[in-house]
Amino acid sequence: MKYFQPELETMSAADKRALQSERLVKTVAYVYERQKPYREKMDAIKLRPSDIKGIEDIWKLPYTVKADLRAAYPFGMMAADRKDLVRLHASSATTGKLTVSGYTGHDIDVWADCAARSLVMAGADENSIVHVCYGYGLFTGGLGMHYGAERLGAIAVPASAGNTQRQLQLLADFGADIICCTPSYAIYLIEEIEKAGLKPGRDIKLKGGCFGAEAWTEEMRADIERRLGIRACDIYGLSEISGPGVANDCEYKRGMHFQDDHYFPEIIDPDTLEPLPVGERGELVITTLDRTGMPLIRYRTRDIAALDDSPCPCGRTTIRMKRITGRSDDMLIIRGVNVFPSQIESVLLKHPDVRPHYHINVDRVNNLDTLEIVVELSPEAFSDTVADVEAIRAKLAADMASGISVTAKITLVSPGTIERSEGKAKRITDRRVLK
Ligand SMILES: [Zn+2]
Repeated sequence: MKYFQPELETMSAADKRALQSERLVKTVAYVYERQKPYREKMDAIKLRPSDIKGIEDIWKLPYTVKADLRAAYPFGMMAADRKDLVRLHASSATTGKLTVSGYTGHDIDVWADCAARSLVMAGADENSIVHVCYGYGLFTGGLGMHYGAERLGAIAVPASAGNTQRQLQLLADFGADIICCTPSYAIYLIEEIEKAGLKPGRDIKLKGGCFGAEAWTEEMRADIERRLGIRACDIYGLSEISGPGVANDCEYKRGMHFQDDHYFPEIIDPDTLEPLPVGERGELVITTLDRTGMPLIRYRTRDIAALDDSPCPCGRTTIRMKRITGRSDDMLIIRGVNVFPSQIESVLLKHPDVRPHYHINVDRVNNLDTLEIVVELSPEAFSDTVADVEAIRAKLAADMASGISVTAKITLVSPGTIERSEGKAKRITDRRVLK
């Protein structure tokens, strides 16, 4: 079994707890001294750093939400002195201010270690060529996996996003064995590889990949694995915490190994804010255990997930996290029913007659929510007769109704109609917010 840091990835439960406790106690004292927003929050509930004696006391600490980070824009959450900060990232915001994340050299080191652990889980080693087609920039995807590849001693190819024909050429000529990109871009690349007549295994030497930055499904994973002949790992991360590599699938793909020596996960009920037992699905909350640039205490990620502490055959003892089923922000409430885009994707991917390129339109007509799913026919089904296409539509509409408990209008479009994304796919238009 290959690990990047076996001494940390296979720690005993008791040693892990001791390490988490030691790091949390230190972090709380540090944030109280250096981050005014935390000092104020703790003072408001009369909580002193000395009240936190170990990881079992974490529930006493106040939550952090995205609005706290926006309010502190740009540098109000930084804990380290300016001379010790070495990098800033910022998360893409469609509205309002960006959220800024500051890193010390130590934070970059820890992040690179976690990204390297992730790459090893995807099958990389020091002889690998890692093709990174996440964007390089304020978004953490590109630089995060790049540093991980270099930390591992592999060769990083900073292809960045865009120019798909050049990506194909680099993949074929350099023979990368590992790829990092969003799952929606992976599907697009696969289509272009097939169109160019390139054969996975012969012309494209990929063996594994870390795919993240958007919620995806097991059906999408199966599709990527089958068509590229690779191990497709789900990778999780967010710029507020560090970047990609906070958690990643091992070869058994029984939930992502959460790097819980550095980042402590909790699941809470997003309505009552009460912690939920291991195994229950709720909102993921993360505390950084040894970050120094901008530590975060009990950060509410809005991501919906569940934890799993059962043993994994790979031998890693880090707690695992089941696939993110969506962001509580992305959840659509259609006629009172909660619908996640990932549920829609699951239904679509069970149909060989359509491809996983889709767009979801939500509107309100005569005070009633309407849901339309625009999806591309597969090239094979596109040449079918009108009656055949109508049968596909009817079958999909019926499966969708039973899959998501809401009636949806299905609109089938020709292959290549839906705009391809080079980063995170924009899949929802909710016109209700404009009304
Ligand atoms: Zn495992």
